[in-house]
Amino acid sequence: MLKYLIVQLDDSAPSFCHYPDSEREPKLIPLDTLRKGLLRSMKENLTVQFIYPDYELPNEYAALIDSVYHADIVSVKSENSGLLAGAEVIVINSLENLENFKFAEGKAYVWRTSISDFLKNNGKLSMILPRIDRLNVVFTDVANFNDSLKVNYAKALDKLAEVIVAEYDRQHPVQLNLLTDRILLDEMNNCNAGDECITLCPDGRYYICPAFYSDSKNAVGDVNNGLNVKNPQLYRINHAPICRTCDAWQCRRCVWLNRNLTLEVNTPGRQQCVMTHLERNASARLLENLRNNKILGLTKVLYGRTLLYLPGLLFGFEKCGRGCK
Ligand code: SF4
Ligand code: SF4
Repeated sequence: MLKYLIVQLDDSAPSFCHYPDSEREPKLIPLDTLRKGLLRSMKENLTVQFIYPDYELPNEYAALIDSVYHADIVSVKSENSGLLAGAEVIVINSLENLENFKFAEGKAYVWRTSISDFLKNNGKLSMILPRIDRLNVVFTDVANFNDSLKVNYAKALDKLAEVIVAEYDRQHPVQLNLLTDRILLDEMNNCNAGDECITLCPDGRYYICPAFYSDSKNAVGDVNNGLNVKNPQLYRINHAPICRTCDAWQCRRCVWLNRNLTLEVNTPGRQQCVMTHLERNASARLLENLRNNKILGLTKVLYGRTLLYLPGLLFGFEKCGRGCK
């Protein structure tokens, strides 16, 4: 069942996820199209998330946006300082030149990074994590992950886990998607694009997510005629035969990556699975460390957790024959 509507407000709006930044010229969604899309969101009780361009929107857009309950996703490079200050999600493409940036509590930050940049620069997060409540690390080149990177990726995760332990120890339970989500979850929590979430783009059409907007042939309906998702069951976890037996509950289960890597939206590429399972096991080591050091003060919820680190056995994942140590 649909729960969320993402609205990409402009063709030039930056990416907030795995897909590349737009190379299109700025072009705003027509006001009437936006109005129709938001009317639908109200009728269906959808939570709206707006992705903004870096330039400031005309006043009539801001007024229409403010008429619905919503969350704002903006780039750290936004020219609208008021929007940046109030946004729920702030996207960062580089950890360079952030010395004077005013990180704030209560927001989610997204660091979009290549795997090599992450391996090189993740140490800089030790300066940022103490100043924020949540960071999502999103990889822009998952397709490039290979077995030669497994050891270094696991080591980087363990290094970041030390920062998390230090923060928990000083009563600051910062969240880092790669390490704390799996500990805190009770069930699968994926992106669910195409099932719970759909995207309206500036051409007035609906897409599974903004990543699918690069080719307008991927549209799944429009604001005048409504949604028309072909084989909608394929976007649901119960029709994803590998994922539904998996216990890496924090995985984004990105259907756009699936389509690019396997040509099937419900079949993941090995790269996504291996990275996600390295994160899952690092999460288990983190939980063990927190327990061993009795650092669960603020996070009593963790006492009841039963994660899961069984060295050499990766339940769920191994069943699909893609073993990863
Ligand atoms: S790790 Fe792989 S099998 Fe598990 S949910 Fe993610 S994409 Fe699916
Ligand atoms: S399907 Fe979800 S995880 Fe994948 S690019 Fe789209 S929004 Fe991001």
